[in-house]
Amino acid sequence: MKHFDCIIVGSGPAGLGAAFELKEKLPKTSILILERSKISSGGLRNDCKMNFTFPVGFPTEYWTKESATYYLEKIENFLKPKILKKNKFDVYSKRAERIGVELLQIRQSHLGTDGGIKLIHELVERLKKLDVIFSFNEEVKSAEKEKRILHTNKNIYSFGNLIVAPGRHGFDFLRCFMKNCGIDFKDNSIDVGIRIETRLEHYPIVKDYYDPKFLFPERTRTFCTNSGNAHVVQEKYETADGHLYYSVNGHAYSNDMKPNGLVNFAVLRTVSFTEPIASGQDYAEYLGLLAMLTGGGHPIMQRIGDFRMRTRTTADGLNNDLYDFEPTLKNATPGDISLAMPSKFLDSIWRALKKLDTIVPGVLHPSTIMYYPEIKLYANKPVFANDNFMATDNIYLIGDGAGTSRGITGAWASGMRAAEDIAGI
Ligand SMILES: Cc1cc2nc3c(=O)[nH]c(=O)nc-3n(C[C@H](O)[C@H](O)[C@H](O)COP(=O)(O)OP(=O)(O)OC[C@H]3O[C@@H](n4cnc5c(N)ncnc54)[C@H](O)[C@@H]3O)c2cc1C
Repeated sequence: MKHFDCIIVGSGPAGLGAAFELKEKLPKTSILILERSKISSGGLRNDCKMNFTFPVGFPTEYWTKESATYYLEKIENFLKPKILKKNKFDVYSKRAERIGVELLQIRQSHLGTDGGIKLIHELVERLKKLDVIFSFNEEVKSAEKEKRILHTNKNIYSFGNLIVAPGRHGFDFLRCFMKNCGIDFKDNSIDVGIRIETRLEHYPIVKDYYDPKFLFPERTRTFCTNSGNAHVVQEKYETADGHLYYSVNGHAYSNDMKPNGLVNFAVLRTVSFTEPIASGQDYAEYLGLLAMLTGGGHPIMQRIGDFRMRTRTTADGLNNDLYDFEPTLKNATPGDISLAMPSKFLDSIWRALKKLDTIVPGVLHPSTIMYYPEIKLYANKPVFANDNFMATDNIYLIGDGAGTSRGITGAWASGMRAAEDIAGI
């Protein structure tokens, strides 16, 4: 059985951040990174907008402004991103303030999906030069905590320390892993919302501020804006009992690609459950399945014009007169999202959209499309044994999957924090 001083599960930003930090602090330590895909998945590979301002991506229960800023500066020095310029920030910000909305001033870079893939390859090569071993297409199944043994679909390894960073897609894996290792957790928060797709001229703010982050009342916000060569996509999820559902998302290619004249962004509402709902995951899965039932197995799309008239969107109605652009998510089903989305989410989001239309007039053009569902499963939040994400002896749980981050830079920072703990700093 092969032994490594540290095994890292997942090659997303959390896993990579941990590996770089460990190699800096303990150059001789042997590291194996296990990745179930053929390349790291998640946001590094999709659009790759990196945010360098607290609190974006940093859950405040684990991070203070000071602690996050310390790591953000280190990450910025390491990755050397090109920070995007913003124009007319004050104009939009004042309009927002007047109606009780906050526009966040964020330092952000944008590589695009093609640029993100290039970055992943560069980072993997840098780590290989530091003698970090990668095994792609190898999926971790379970661990024997006391014996410090890890089982994958191909091998059995022993480890000194284990860093588990499986991301949001590793939700079920992490839940089983924690149950087997006797780690307590809770998962009571979710974000549910829609993705808007519209013409660039109906949301021109993106020319001045690539990914404008508006905070509305009722824990509702804009999230992950894409423009240039922008596309709405669907991601497949599997429920705990094996049913499939899709959640929408968005991405864009780098500035080198020909623009398609469209913009997409999410509007999400966060809800934290109390008794008797114990699991945000279970609730989100029901919503995902209801959306699939309503959309015939696909996400639903509805034009704003139809939504205002309280009628469903039809395939015919998508192509005439005012309804003047082709949706980029071709297999979404034209329909009525109010059949599938609980009013707790829909009402807050509609109120937020009306405010947004006051700040950026035109976004609620009748041709604008709303796609549903966009569901973010935040995490199975473990009960940690220390402040640096150690859940039990020698096992660290980090990144978005464990709820210690909500974005690329936060995930990277959580990896650094776990690595520092291992190095005894
Ligand atoms: C489509 C999309 C676009 C996004 N865009 C952005 C963005 O522009 N900016 C931003 O800040 N954030 C973005 N995000 C969020 C961002 O992806 C996450 O915040 C970040 O990637 C979390 O990092 P992580 O390392 O925790 O998890 P991930 O990046 O998800 O990495 C986890 C890795 O673990 C692997 N894995 C899971 N289970 C196992 C297992 N059992 N065995 C082995 N490997 C396993 C997965 O394949 C994956 O590669 C986006 C997310 C998505 C899905």
